[in-house]
Amino acid sequence: MKVPLLDLKQQYSRIKDEIMAEIEAVCDSQIFILGPRVEELEKRVAEYCGARYAVGVSSGTDALLIALMAEGVGHGDMVITTPYSFFSTAGVIARLGAVPLFVDIDDETYNIDPVKLKERLDSLGKEQRDRIKAVIPVHLFGQCADMEPMLNIARRYGIKVIEDAAQAIGAEYEFGNGDVKRAGSMGDYGCFSFYPTKNLGAFGEGGMVTCNDEDLYKRLKIFRNHGDVSRYSHRYVGGNFRLDAIQASVLLVKLKYLDEWTQARVKNAGIYRELTKKYLTKIHFPLEKEKRHIYNQFIIKVRDGRDGLKQFLSEKGIGCEIYYPVPLHLQECFKNLKYGIGDLPVSENAALNTLALPVYPELTREQLGYVVDSLKLFESSGK
Ligand SMILES: *Cc1c(COP(=O)(O)O)cnc(C)c1O
Repeated sequence: MKVPLLDLKQQYSRIKDEIMAEIEAVCDSQIFILGPRVEELEKRVAEYCGARYAVGVSSGTDALLIALMAEGVGHGDMVITTPYSFFSTAGVIARLGAVPLFVDIDDETYNIDPVKLKERLDSLGKEQRDRIKAVIPVHLFGQCADMEPMLNIARRYGIKVIEDAAQAIGAEYEFGNGDVKRAGSMGDYGCFSFYPTKNLGAFGEGGMVTCNDEDLYKRLKIFRNHGDVSRYSHRYVGGNFRLDAIQASVLLVKLKYLDEWTQARVKNAGIYRELTKKYLTKIHFPLEKEKRHIYNQFIIKVRDGRDGLKQFLSEKGIGCEIYYPVPLHLQECFKNLKYGIGDLPVSENAALNTLALPVYPELTREQLGYVVDSLKLFESSGK
């Protein structure tokens, strides 16, 4: 049996006619850059995430970049983030000439640990502390970072919070007082990616920045278009970070199905748990610590032998992948930051022991059963 890690063709075949009609309508309009469809998408995504405003941009990376630019982050500044994420979370900081300061993650959620964040901030002298402009928590794999303590710490230290919600559209977090909020509505900015493999994926590149402050919203729109405030008057050096109408039209169709797809992902995660109850000892399933995990990835932790399991599953026709094999603080391009092995041990362990299994919405119970049988076989084989 074949079980790919992700199968976008199945999703497409169900909605092909609807999508093609929308793309054709954009072609007929000949309005390709920004315009009414992008505005409609911005409105819908803001509503969906519980944020006041949204600005469509060219990718998730550019969403992060433009948020930092709108905060004026540049040379001499520092921005705190997690070393266990996709490259662009830290790449955008360095691209602006600022320094990423990495804080280790929680062992169960793989998200930045607020206790370690506070310790790190407390350990800095005043001069360094003043250089810190923002923290970028990532809601990794579809589960929110522990936002309440993080927001409190950020407020106390006067730093901005830029949520990297690229993998977490529709994920929810519950505050101590019972309030439930969605990814992208809690910090100063929420950054989303519509890369095709995300839960809401375009037919190319795309992204979105959400915020609740009208001034920030206006600034983001200016930065998106070369810092232009009125025709050919440039207040800032912005860039071309615009979203195009064909992507927006595809995303508007897909957004209608997003909750259904998310529910199927959550259900699949539940079936994995149900089928493996009591049987697995070396393999740990992801913990649902926060309110609504949307399972962009289903990440298991293998006590030892992760690479052996990956090999074993691949031979059985099961798609699996390592996210992420090298933590960001150990990347060659950040050698100048002088981190070494052992500096951020939880992230380093996660990089060594975790593996993503298929969890996409269209998986059948038979396929999930086959994956589970293969996991059991691996354990009993003692490899
Ligand atoms: C995908 C992703 C990004 C970047 O998004 P792109 O649209 O590919 O530029 C940033 N951060 C995280 C955590 C991601 O998963």
